[in-house]
Amino acid sequence: MRGPDVPAKALDARALAALAANPGCRRRAILDGAGVDKTALASALGSPSAFGQSQFALTRGNAFEARVKADGGAELLRLVRRHLDPGAEPLDRAAVPDLSATGPEGRTARTALALREAGEAGGWVLLDHPMLALPVAGSPAFLEPDAVVVHPDGSWTVVEIKSFPMLDGSADPAKVGAAARQAAVYVLALEEVAARLDPAPRVRHDVLLVCPKDFSNLPTAAAVDVRKQRAVTARQLARLTRIQDIADTLPEGTCFAPGLPAEQLAEAVEAVPAAYAPECLSACELAFHCRQRSRAADEVTQLGRAVRAELGGLATVADVLSAARGDSGDPDDPAVAALRRAAALRAEALAVQGAVCP
Ligand code: SF4
Repeated sequence: MRGPDVPAKALDARALAALAANPGCRRRAILDGAGVDKTALASALGSPSAFGQSQFALTRGNAFEARVKADGGAELLRLVRRHLDPGAEPLDRAAVPDLSATGPEGRTARTALALREAGEAGGWVLLDHPMLALPVAGSPAFLEPDAVVVHPDGSWTVVEIKSFPMLDGSADPAKVGAAARQAAVYVLALEEVAARLDPAPRVRHDVLLVCPKDFSNLPTAAAVDVRKQRAVTARQLARLTRIQDIADTLPEGTCFAPGLPAEQLAEAVEAVPAAYAPECLSACELAFHCRQRSRAADEVTQLGRAVRAELGGLATVADVLSAARGDSGDPDDPAVAALRRAAALRAEALAVQGAVCP
């Protein structure tokens, strides 16, 4: 589906968190499941995405992460101990196992082995860029957290390293929220690994968020409780329609290769139902394309999920206005009744205004 010779775009935790945030969108599910590069697809459709990190932000983020993990992760492990496990033994020995292997499956197996060996050996262990697998809509998604730390008691902690600053001990809540949703995906994937061990190690639901301190390049950290995000993400991922079931509904030969003509791509994309909402603008590369289609079709989804939910079966703005005017709609439908009441109040207010200011 992504086209012959087009390499698969791996799903990362950011993409999975966004997918889980809109479980009703079959379009995103099939594109992600097929490993389609949505940034390239959006450009080929003529609606390039404004989504993603700049090269400058990526370079700065990589430099900060390298600094945090320098000297065998000594500073990182000190931060984990200070914020999450102050009673644990001091960091006089910490192991950093080699996790290199061929392909994502090989790296996932190597990570699982390293986690098991770390539990048996005891002490502090830092897994730098481990690889984890999480089944999503019937297919495995491979995920690469910044780090996972094994504590001397055998428990596991996810570490997220971000380049946004922590000012006076607190950071931008929207960015912390996004980091927590990402970390929750890693926690779920780690729980899959833990469940295969006997006894199953504890996966901590407090993750460590490491950021630059104030405006410096020095690392500081905070523990973030991701229990809520973990529960929401697990529930949403379980609701995703199986990718095979979506693929079965598509016309034979449907292809999303970015090299195809724009009309052909638009047809292929339109063949999969979407669930556009304004929230897509900050979460999905196809947002401009889907917004344009949603506006062209006059859909109420463009007004946001809350408004959509209030309007019941009224799917277009034209239907809503017609129902409010009394031209269509069942008067016993609570949404139609509320619209007519609102229209009457508006007409009354305008009449009063006309009388006061003729
Ligand atoms: S932008 Fe389109 S494809 Fe992406 S999640 Fe929203 S509706 Fe689905």
